Amino acid sequence: MKVIPRDQHTISNKDISDNALSVISNLSSKGHEAYLVGGAVRDLLLGKSPKDFDVATSATPEEIRKIFRRARIIGRRFRIAQIKYGKEIIEVTTFRGNQKKDFSRKEKTLEEFEQSSRGLLLRDNIFGTMSEDAIRRDITVNALYYNPKTYSIIDHVSGISDLSKSKLKVIGDPTSRFIEDPVRILRVVRFATKLNFKISPDTSKAINEISPLLADVPNARLFDEFLKLFFSGHANNTLKNLINHSLLDYFFPGMQTQIKNQAKWGKLIENVCADTDLRIYEGKSVTPAFLLAVMLWPKLVTVINKNPKIKQDRFTMLQSAGTEVISKSNSLMAIPKRLSASIREIWEMQYHLENNRREKALSLMSKKRFRAGYDLLVLRARVGDCSTGLERRWSELQNTNKKTLKSIYNQKYKRSGSARHLFLNQRG
Ligand code: ATP
Ligand code: MG
Repeated sequence: MKVIPRDQHTISNKDISDNALSVISNLSSKGHEAYLVGGAVRDLLLGKSPKDFDVATSATPEEIRKIFRRARIIGRRFRIAQIKYGKEIIEVTTFRGNQKKDFSRKEKTLEEFEQSSRGLLLRDNIFGTMSEDAIRRDITVNALYYNPKTYSIIDHVSGISDLSKSKLKVIGDPTSRFIEDPVRILRVVRFATKLNFKISPDTSKAINEISPLLADVPNARLFDEFLKLFFSGHANNTLKNLINHSLLDYFFPGMQTQIKNQAKWGKLIENVCADTDLRIYEGKSVTPAFLLAVMLWPKLVTVINKNPKIKQDRFTMLQSAGTEVISKSNSLMAIPKRLSASIREIWEMQYHLENNRREKALSLMSKKRFRAGYDLLVLRARVGDCSTGLERRWSELQNTNKKTLKSIYNQKYKRSGSARHLFLNQRG
């Protein structure tokens, strides 16, 4: 164990959330050990602002709940106490112990620790000391503890040395750590991308070896990880790194081959990732529905082209292909229902944008998914998946004066009176 005193590091208490400091001081005042841990210590040392502040303590979840009435205990596989302060949530974890040692000790441990016959961790709630907790963490640079009272950093796993070398290294034997929890593979790729760190060779080798186990990760957890990977402001590099480690197919079946064989699809996905990063950088909103609608678009086109159901019109074909693509995707990643409904609407908007007549443009532009649908159309036009003329048409129409569009509409329908009431209702 190495202790790095105040004058040998750059962390200052004033860069730490007041709520996290107050949680730590409350726990300490009741006689428990408590430290800032994980991403916050890592990011502060790198001069970045942490996404959240996690606390590790010797207090058990029950003891934490006694001290903080509003603490909520979540998770079964891995129990965590969440303490909410307005919008901020401080996650407090109890030091994990060495399960192998405890496994044969008490009957109770069987309930608290469970591993499948293949080595997957089903439950990890054996508690222990700080040094035991450090080696249960995933990556060396994620296992540094900061004590705000003494201003010192405690390093049990050479995290500081790896941090200074920009090296991402799994703690312990990477193969068995990935078998215990294959999501750690994705975490390694995520942090390597976010921090621009190099993955150590033994960790890299283990990724290739163990990645097939990602197919068994519960699909809700995989969806959470997808959000973290693609909405951290580094989607484009994440995509590259996932491709380099052949991991993309665990989120989108067959995508890796598809983008290798057809350059335009690779470009489409690269472009949407780059746009997502830019929007995050500019502080604009981003939606998973749009990103997924674009990322799954090549698959949708393939399904439509593969099953030419002659009897169906193109719109019905698009709808049934949509159902198929969403349901296949759901078997890997659980896309929440409200998102899949929006994804389908964005796809259906492509049909309307391709087939809509000028006189009805105003009505289409008032639809909820128009903007997202138009944005997908722009991305498609950029890679040659639809004509640039079509994109230009809709760009111009949006700049056309509303009055002009209304008069075009009136010229067409006023005399016959058809559907005018619909138009008026939609525009108010
Ligand atoms: P960030 O919050 O910036 O995404 P983080 O490192 O804080 O990064 P969290 O997911 O908040 O990541 O987890 C907090 C800490 O818990 C990690 O730094 C790591 O020490 C530990 N941890 C999280 N997930 C795992 C895991 N699957 N296996 C082992 N340790 C983990
Ligand atoms: Mg964190």
